[in-house]
Amino acid sequence: MSTRAERMRLPLSTEVMKATAEKHGVCVRPFTMEVGDPDTGELRYVAVPCGSTVESVCAPCAKKAKALRMAQCREGWHLTEEPDFTPAPPTAEQKELMEFRADLVARYREAVEHGEEGQADELREEIRGVDEELRQLGMRGRLPSPDLPGKRPVKRSTKRRQDAPNLPRKKVAKTTVGREYAGKFRPSMFVTLTCDTYGRVREDGTPVDPASYDYRRAARDAVHFASLVDRWWQNLRRVVGWDVQYFATVEPQKRTAPHLHAALRGSIPHEVLRQVTEATYHQVWWPNHDEPIYGGDRLPVWDARSKGFVDPEKHEPLTPWEEAVEEVEEPAHVVTFGRQVHSKGILGGTEEAGRHIGYLTKYLTKSTGEVVEAISARQREHHDRLHAELAITPCSPCCAVWLLYGVQPLGATSRMTPGHCKGRAHRRTTLGLPGRRVLVSRKWSGKSLADHKADRKAFVRDMLAGVGIVKPEEDTSRLIWRKVQPGDRDAPPRAHLLMRAIAERITWKAEYDRALLAAHPPGPETSATPLAV
Ligand SMILES: [Zn+2]
Ligand SMILES: [Zn+2]
Repeated sequence: MSTRAERMRLPLSTEVMKATAEKHGVCVRPFTMEVGDPDTGELRYVAVPCGSTVESVCAPCAKKAKALRMAQCREGWHLTEEPDFTPAPPTAEQKELMEFRADLVARYREAVEHGEEGQADELREEIRGVDEELRQLGMRGRLPSPDLPGKRPVKRSTKRRQDAPNLPRKKVAKTTVGREYAGKFRPSMFVTLTCDTYGRVREDGTPVDPASYDYRRAARDAVHFASLVDRWWQNLRRVVGWDVQYFATVEPQKRTAPHLHAALRGSIPHEVLRQVTEATYHQVWWPNHDEPIYGGDRLPVWDARSKGFVDPEKHEPLTPWEEAVEEVEEPAHVVTFGRQVHSKGILGGTEEAGRHIGYLTKYLTKSTGEVVEAISARQREHHDRLHAELAITPCSPCCAVWLLYGVQPLGATSRMTPGHCKGRAHRRTTLGLPGRRVLVSRKWSGKSLADHKADRKAFVRDMLAGVGIVKPEEDTSRLIWRKVQPGDRDAPPRAHLLMRAIAERITWKAEYDRALLAAHPPGPETSATPLAV
């Protein structure tokens, strides 16, 4: 007989299953898809990997995603040939669907004009469906909205243009690969850019003097960091005169300010990088938001009649966004980089290159919250103060925080709560860090993540073929995939699918090992090099 405590210590079946799935590299929380074969009428349930990039959510999927990013980073970094971007000609199917879309849009406009709302809604839904289909057929780019354009965007006066930094300019050539030196060396760069200082910090990233640490600038810099980085690439390309490509990741430093690690294709002198960094800035032409007008219990209220927020006492409407922007005389904020610029030339295929790809992708399997975790009381206090500042820092023109400053946010609705925006920038867990942590320029490897995935599959297929296992690629285009609706009684429980996936993986691995053994029977000469085909 075991005691209750002993029984409580036994691992739960779900935990055991999860550990087994992890061991075999099978997704631990797949979702179920229903797959129908219209030719045979057969209906199957298939476990589809969750595709999470966060290790604490699903380790096998996160590891695969990271490996893919590493491959992408490696392939583009020291590319010697310009990637081919000749688009494939449109297929007959795509053209047919596009014609159908044009018809639908014409009918939709008619319905809108005649005030047939129900009909218009249905048509809009159908247009959305066609757009989705076109995308699945491999079409890129945006499709025009079925609605006619509304009001023209505000024209900015010249004084509000981003000032051009004081840098030499060249016409940007189309080339994206680096130069070759001494007939054989083609180094690329590893660059690190940081935010400016907000006050001295200790070893653990907390301010020496919290009272004078500039939390306001830290919060605003974090919110606008991505725009500053964009500007840096633009400036750099203009200075060097070619289309510099990059694979970059944004990570928080100990003080939680974002910094950027970038693999950059081609070689650029450190002095040029330093100059560009020093001269680059981003001006935020938003209404001034230094002093909140509302707060506590005194907040703007929604007025159904004017369809906007009004002052709680005087009931006067708040200044609409466009008007507030029009009145701006000087930028509400200017973002710059810190003085320190680290850069290093790195040769392709070296141990050093591999190590730096490791740095770049090191934290990709962690959520931002896990990366910025506070472990001491002092760090928690620091995060709290930054979070408090981020809570009153607007993150976009649509941000509900604008209501605290008496500005009607762009696209304000009755569902908005003044001062409460769901944007990532305001969350305690992310502390203003951007959601997109991997930034890859368009002409990096000439491939999308899906292409890199296909490469990996082909690699495995070739390896299998090398040991005599030939798996014909199944044509799955005729199959109809549908997400299983919650409450579908026919769908097998997730645990069953998980067990099946694990069993499949084990069978597959055994098959592979057997074939490998058959192709290379162990002997004194071959045993050391089982895979050298
Ligand atoms: Zn998964
Ligand atoms: Zn916001």
